[in-house]
Amino acid sequence: MPAIPFPKKKVPRERALRELAILEQTYPHAVTALEYRNPFELLIAVILSAQCTDARVNMTTPALFAKYPTPQKLASANPSDVERIIKSCGFFRMKTKNIIAAAKGLVEKHGGEVPKEREELESLAGVGRKTANVVMSVAFSEAAFAVDTHVFRVSHRLGLTLGTTPRQVEEDVTALVPQEKWRFAHHWLILHGREICKAPTPLCAQCPVNELCPTPAIIARTAKAPRRPSAAGAGVRRPARGALAKKKR
Ligand code: SF4
Repeated sequence: MPAIPFPKKKVPRERALRELAILEQTYPHAVTALEYRNPFELLIAVILSAQCTDARVNMTTPALFAKYPTPQKLASANPSDVERIIKSCGFFRMKTKNIIAAAKGLVEKHGGEVPKEREELESLAGVGRKTANVVMSVAFSEAAFAVDTHVFRVSHRLGLTLGTTPRQVEEDVTALVPQEKWRFAHHWLILHGREICKAPTPLCAQCPVNELCPTPAIIARTAKAPRRPSAAGAGVRRPARGALAKKKR
C-alpha cells in the first residue's frame, strides 16, 4: 500500500469533538502501559521508552529498580552495570548516561524527589517536553498532553491538526479537549494508534470513528491513483526532522 497522506485540511471543530467523544467512550479506562511504583520509576521508564516498546521497558525495569531503587543509588551507579541491564532497550549508552545524570539532578537539586513543575523536569538530563508531559500527567495528574508518534499520526489522520511539530499538535488537540481531560486524551489517541489506527496500515473497517474520519476517503483515492515510484511519499506530511522521538510498537 502506498504511504497514506495526512488530510490537508482540519475537520470542522464540531466533527473533531465528535471524533474525540467516540475515542473517549472507546477507551474509558486508558492508562499508561509502563509499569512503575512511584514518580522516580515512571520518570526513568519514560526515558527508557524512547524508540523502544513499553513491553520491553517493563521487562527491563524490574532488574534496574531492584539494583537501584532510589535516585541516590542510581546517581552513584557504575555506568557499565546499568548498560548491561538496559541494553535491550536500545540506545543503551545514551540512555544510561541520561538516567544516571537525571538521578544526579534529582539528588542535587530536588532532594531526591521528582519535581511536578515542567521547567524543573525539563532541566533534567534526557527529559524533553514529551517526557515531562507524561510524568506531569501520569504521576501527578497535572493537565498535560504528551505527543508521541502514535498521538502525532492519529491526530493527523483524524484531521485534528495540520501541525508539523509535536508542539503544534499539542496546541491543536488541547484546544479541542477540556483541560481536565488532557491527560486522558493522550491515552485515547495512543491506544487507538496501537490497536486500530496503526502505522502504516490503519484498520479503518474496524474503527469506531470511521464515518467521521477524513482518512478513509484519502486511502481510497490513494489506492486508485496510478503508482509513480519517483513521487512516492510526495504530499505525505511528517514531523519536522528530529522533532519527534519514534516509539516502536
Ligand atoms: S478511520 Fe482509519 S485512519 Fe481514521 S482513525 Fe480510524 S483507523 Fe485511523
